[in-house]
Amino acid sequence: LKYRKDYFAGSRDELCAKIQQSVSTKRYQHILGVEQAAVQLAQENNVDVEKASISGLVHDYAKERSTEEFKRVIEKKHLDPDLLKWNNFIWHGVVGAEIIADELKIDDEEILNAVRRHTVGSAVMTQLDKVVYVADFIEKGRVFPDVDVARTIAFNNLDQAVAFETKHTLQYLLAANKTIYPVAIETYNRWVVAVN
Ligand code: GDP
Ligand code: FE
Ligand code: FE
Ligand code: FE
Repeated sequence: LKYRKDYFAGSRDELCAKIQQSVSTKRYQHILGVEQAAVQLAQENNVDVEKASISGLVHDYAKERSTEEFKRVIEKKHLDPDLLKWNNFIWHGVVGAEIIADELKIDDEEILNAVRRHTVGSAVMTQLDKVVYVADFIEKGRVFPDVDVARTIAFNNLDQAVAFETKHTLQYLLAANKTIYPVAIETYNRWVVAVN
């Protein structure tokens, strides 16, 4: 995929090289899978394929950063101090977007929002947000019992895929007695409960 706009100041290969320096080999393979799924979903849903590729490639860029680094960024960027009570699972999207903006010089707010929303979603989601959220769930390396169901839904109806994933994630968190990030409940109320 040749980048023709300048959401990133370089080629796809140059972006991949920077990402490879930021994450483990295993995570990099996941990232390539997410990019591929995001591009496919973008094509099906009339979403900008270049934004889907970049968002997929950068979505977990900050996943392996330290707790100390995330806390520093939350303070330096004056993000909601409530974030300090959470952990890497929540930070790598919301706070990771700031690290991506700074280190990769990506300033497109649609791309950054797709990264911010990729883990727990949002009551408000653009088509690009949905593409990245769902691609992260169904990429070819993912293995869990319902992944084939999720893939089938994803390529039939993107909104239904958002609902399926949201419910699946919440069910897992509840069953494991894990804390629910309040935004995840907002996502549930909008995309699982609401009749559109
Ligand atoms: P990954 O970065 O590709 O592994 O995938 P995600 O960014 O989608 O998810 C990262 C982790 O966050 C997963 O282990 C999810 O189960 C977890 N997660 C998602 N929502 C919540 C939440 O509301 N609360 C907590 N505690 N964890 C969550
Ligand atoms: Fe993630
Ligand atoms: Fe996800
Ligand atoms: Fe991911």
